[in-house]
Amino acid sequence: MKKRDLISIEDLSNQEIDELFQVADNMLARDRGAGGPKACSGRIMATLFYEPSTRTRLSFESAMQRLGGTVISCPDMKSSSTAKGESIADTARVVSSYADVLVVRHYWDGAVQAMAEYAEVPVINAGDGSHEHPTQTLCDLYTLRKEKGDLKGLTVVICGDLKHGRTIHSLVYALARFGAHVITLAANGMELPQYVIEKLEREYHYSLAPVASDDLHAVVRETDAIYLTPSQPHQLALFTQVDAEIQQRLSKMASGIKFDAFYVTRKQKERIEEGSEGGNGSYPRIGRDFLKERRFKDTVVMHPLPRVDELSQEVDKDRRGIYFKQAAYGVPIRMALLKFLFDSLDKAKSRAGQKKAPLYESPEPIGPRCANANCVTRTENISTRPRFEVLFTGPGGALILKCFYCDHQLKVQYMGHTRSRKYCPYDIALGDTVREWLQHGELAIFDSIKQAEELGYEPYKSGPQRSIMDEAEMREALCRMSEEILKESKDPERLLILGIRTKGTYLAKRIAEELEKRSQKRIEVGEIEIYGAGDDLRSLSPLEGGPSSPSVKDRGVILVDDVIHTGMTVKNAMSIIFKSGRPQSVRLAVLVDRGHREMPVKPNYVGKHIPSSEKERVRVKLREVEQDERDKVVIYSIVSPENSHQRSAPSSNPKADN
Ligand code: ASP
Repeated sequence: MKKRDLISIEDLSNQEIDELFQVADNMLARDRGAGGPKACSGRIMATLFYEPSTRTRLSFESAMQRLGGTVISCPDMKSSSTAKGESIADTARVVSSYADVLVVRHYWDGAVQAMAEYAEVPVINAGDGSHEHPTQTLCDLYTLRKEKGDLKGLTVVICGDLKHGRTIHSLVYALARFGAHVITLAANGMELPQYVIEKLEREYHYSLAPVASDDLHAVVRETDAIYLTPSQPHQLALFTQVDAEIQQRLSKMASGIKFDAFYVTRKQKERIEEGSEGGNGSYPRIGRDFLKERRFKDTVVMHPLPRVDELSQEVDKDRRGIYFKQAAYGVPIRMALLKFLFDSLDKAKSRAGQKKAPLYESPEPIGPRCANANCVTRTENISTRPRFEVLFTGPGGALILKCFYCDHQLKVQYMGHTRSRKYCPYDIALGDTVREWLQHGELAIFDSIKQAEELGYEPYKSGPQRSIMDEAEMREALCRMSEEILKESKDPERLLILGIRTKGTYLAKRIAEELEKRSQKRIEVGEIEIYGAGDDLRSLSPLEGGPSSPSVKDRGVILVDDVIHTGMTVKNAMSIIFKSGRPQSVRLAVLVDRGHREMPVKPNYVGKHIPSSEKERVRVKLREVEQDERDKVVIYSIVSPENSHQRSAPSSNPKADN
């Protein structure tokens, strides 16, 4: 049997969503009675909820019954065989032989995808961890459209816990697809995850810009907003210098925005680790202040519910509070969806947003692991096979693996060729080779050199290295850059030196030391991590009692990296900065500029310009990173591992990475 599952909002095309809404309209018009009168007569729906639910579960059950179907359920999955240690794969297999559709909610990101792979019948995601909640998004879009008409061009402000809120993640993808603008008003430390922002940029060409938050003071204080918009008319996020002119444009832009909706969410406290800092700061609240503001007179207020204290009851009586309608639409929308999935059975039609091939699955017994600690692959190896979408478009030309289950991303460090048993660090110049190996199932990806060598891989060779900057030159360049930075900084105390991990961080520290020597002031240093699941931004010094994440608000940020090439790394670092606040300015300092920019980014301070070809690699060697080495910069050419036996070049240090 061919079946359609609904795991992500990406599994439905825009046209299918439009069609679903028409069916939902009919369901509403016929007083929810039919869709042909008993479209699900004789069918059974099983609801498997591993987390609490009121609306989603009851509206699904109501929808099924209104369509003439019946429902089986486990009152609490804790009382099911899960308590005895049954895998989600086995539960899915078994229950799918009792029912014709499964509606599943689970606390692990990607768990519903895993269950869908074992179930014989369609599976609907009723919320998986912090990942997605596609049927809530259908209710949200339907409500918005009923209230505001066409979604294209609407501006929706999403507020609250944007990090853990699964309704938010499905919603922003859908808003992007329908061409709406999104403004984020995140609670402290609960910004939209980087992988979500990157997907918006990569797949929908959204650009990111900071908006003056004073403008939204009626809603929340102390939180900066980000404006996500189809990539016109501005590309503000790409400016490395948020100077006075851009500031002015930002403020104008903010005051000109017509806000169509505020989508408020509660703090997802069940996903915040005890003792962690998450959510200790201010939280956006909607209440009297909001209602009083003239500029919000036509702004509707939505909420996926349940609410805690982020949405005051005063809004209930106001015509703009539409969240109970939003919840009520759950029934016709879910009726339409059930009908749609049953109608699609055995139709050859492929799944709309099918995750794109080729997927990478390790040909070796060990391979890369998803970086998201809450991903189903981290806990249920029995029910999952770690698979990744391979993205060649990562920052700085990085090769990125995107988890098939939960969408989190990780950067490829080392790769190998299964036939020749050679490994090397990934480099942009090897892009075509990787594509080929991937196609032939000959690509191995490793977390570390140790892993590669334990699997019997050997390092491949590169062309000879040529030194282009020695220790003294590097010291001299960093001194000169520090001097220039100081000269252009009116208030050195407001400086924040942010290194891009790893080598950028060491250079940032060296620059900060120089600045301290010259200015006799304490200079704060921080670090940006653009990959992985950890904190994006952290303080390095001074640390005494300070926050773990430095405040960028109104600071003169100096972003530091070792080599600038395509500019993607910098672009990425900029979105992380803007995500956490609005600095007074951001200036860029790099030790080496090697040209070939793909992004309109121009460094303000450069140690040395080294024009180089795409097939060459420039590596900065720092004594802090590479043992027994002196500071230097080398250049060498990449030799494909397959050809390496034809060359007699000396072996490169496989630790290379920049
Ligand atoms: N009911 C929604 C969910 O399950 C929203 C929430 O719980 O805050 O994700």
